[in-house]
Amino acid sequence: MHELSIAQSLLDIIVDESKNHRLGHVNLVRLRVGELAAVVSESLRFCFDLVSRDTVASGAIIEIETVAVTARCDKCDFSFEIKDRVFECPRCAEPVFEMVGGRELYVMSIEGETGEEDGADKGAGGS
Ligand SMILES: [Zn+2]
Repeated sequence: MHELSIAQSLLDIIVDESKNHRLGHVNLVRLRVGELAAVVSESLRFCFDLVSRDTVASGAIIEIETVAVTARCDKCDFSFEIKDRVFECPRCAEPVFEMVGGRELYVMSIEGETGEEDGADKGAGGS
């Protein structure tokens, strides 16, 4: 399943990032997904709920921003956004096959809490 493997690699990124930023729990993850990545938001959220169980990101809210597909015309070198899945140059009406954007899936930001409620390590220094 497409979304399941995406959710899994997404979780890997989040776990890494939360370690880097010493987050005890992740509350919110903002994603940017290209239209061509063909990710179904609801399906991705569902899969992420599954894989993130008992991890630092369990119960985190996934916000997904969809980015338009961009393409470049071979003939006149014009770059433009693909709208309504019309793969045609708006300038010279040439069909375009070269997509320059829209397949990406980026983690834009991760919000969470540092796991310092107990205060046990406060003032220990060392690092
Ligand atoms: Zn053109």
